[in-house]
Amino acid sequence: MSTALHDLTLAEQSQQLASGQTTSVALTQHALDRIAAHTELGAFLHVDAAGALAAAAASDARRAVGQPFGPLDGVPIAHKDIFVTHGLPTTAASKMLKGYQSPFDATVVAQLKAAGAVTVGKLNCDEFAMGGANENSAYGVARNPWDTNRIPGGSSGASAVAVSARLVAATTGTDTGGSIRQPAALTGITGIKPTYGRCSRYGMIAFASSLDQAGPMARTAEDCAMLLQAMSGFDQCDATSAQEPVPDFMAVINTPRAEATTAQPLKGLRVGVPKEFFGEGVSADVLAATRAALAQLETMGATLVNISLPRTELSIPVYYIIAPAEASSNLSRFDGVKFGHRAAKYGDLNDMYRKTRAEGFGAEVKRRIMIGTYVLSHGYYDAYYLQAQKLRRMIADDFQAAFKVCDVIAGPVSPSVARPIGSQTDPVAEYLADIFTLPASLAGLPGMSVPCGFGEHGLPVGLQLIGNYWQEAGLLHTAHAFQQATDWHQRRPTSLS
Ligand code: GLN
Repeated sequence: MSTALHDLTLAEQSQQLASGQTTSVALTQHALDRIAAHTELGAFLHVDAAGALAAAAASDARRAVGQPFGPLDGVPIAHKDIFVTHGLPTTAASKMLKGYQSPFDATVVAQLKAAGAVTVGKLNCDEFAMGGANENSAYGVARNPWDTNRIPGGSSGASAVAVSARLVAATTGTDTGGSIRQPAALTGITGIKPTYGRCSRYGMIAFASSLDQAGPMARTAEDCAMLLQAMSGFDQCDATSAQEPVPDFMAVINTPRAEATTAQPLKGLRVGVPKEFFGEGVSADVLAATRAALAQLETMGATLVNISLPRTELSIPVYYIIAPAEASSNLSRFDGVKFGHRAAKYGDLNDMYRKTRAEGFGAEVKRRIMIGTYVLSHGYYDAYYLQAQKLRRMIADDFQAAFKVCDVIAGPVSPSVARPIGSQTDPVAEYLADIFTLPASLAGLPGMSVPCGFGEHGLPVGLQLIGNYWQEAGLLHTAHAFQQATDWHQRRPTSLS
């Protein structure tokens, strides 16, 4: 029996395109049909069937004359609606940007286009990427395919849903404080947040500019490697993108470690286990799956090393000062003049600003703007913002101390499995659930989530792997090895055919 097109990974689709077993038009049409059949998941904010099929036909034409752009040529993908796209609406899931069309493509979008990937549409997310449940979208919730009454996580919630439900094999997401890793964990897929500066932020609608990073979400580490290859690299339009050489990720993940044996592919790898990631607050099911994954890494030859990241808890107040501070500044551009929404009726200019922003922003975005404005205000700046900056540096230093004794750090992504939609009304309690993803974000380190088992109600659990700066290839190598030895990433939500 041949595998259904939607069950193919990105790498398999790429192989089938190369061997002529399928075409981009066939893959794209199949994705469009599946997207249309699963609108109940709330994944897509915009589907561009005509544009996608035209791009697919162009890809097939290139291939017919033996000139595909590369391994991604012809594979259907979708973008988080935080990335601006030329010719398609971009909303950041906000009323503020309803109907907005960007005159250009985000660099990441342009890179993937240049690699031949076909954009089928734009994905739901939390408004301006603020949230962890996809419940803050102005356009409705996205639903977890493992249980459609539960959240898929956020803010790249629908990017995770689309992959988990096999609507497309891969998507883009963004991660400011966990928004790729946490939804990947809660939906049983693989996602990587690269080192800050690895991917260009140009055309990624800014939330907290010193933290925001783009990254791929897919079913396997191999697929993430393929996508990250195209998304990485210096961009003169983003002064914070790095002039770091981009390794051949695919080559690295397929190259055995120096000390590897067939039975022990991870021999020589030192895995740091931070005690703060295994304490109070982590639910028993997540702990059990995470510990089992650590034991698996050990079986594969890795050595577990006890480490400490003593300021883990402080990463919550530090992040929830710095991120809103930056957001309050970034979001000042949405004033009814330059972009998107403007109130229909107003008095003077100030009244226009006030009404436009009151109407355009949702409650969580307003909360962050108010917190951010407060912590930056004269008289409070030193007490909050400056203190937070100092602690951020110490959190980064703690990681450097840890990386003296280990190569990769492992722990849970989320303290619990996906909760029911609508079950959390306390914003602070929601913020606390970011405890394990915020430290790497504040330090600017790469981190990923790899499916590692199931917890309560048969819901997926993700293993977080954190690497040192520019070590995405190492993370992907470890994750790929783990996925060669386990099949958690192959499990599928059974309710979906
Ligand atoms: N949940 C975090 C927040 O709401 C992270 C969001 C993100 O990474 N974009 O800020």
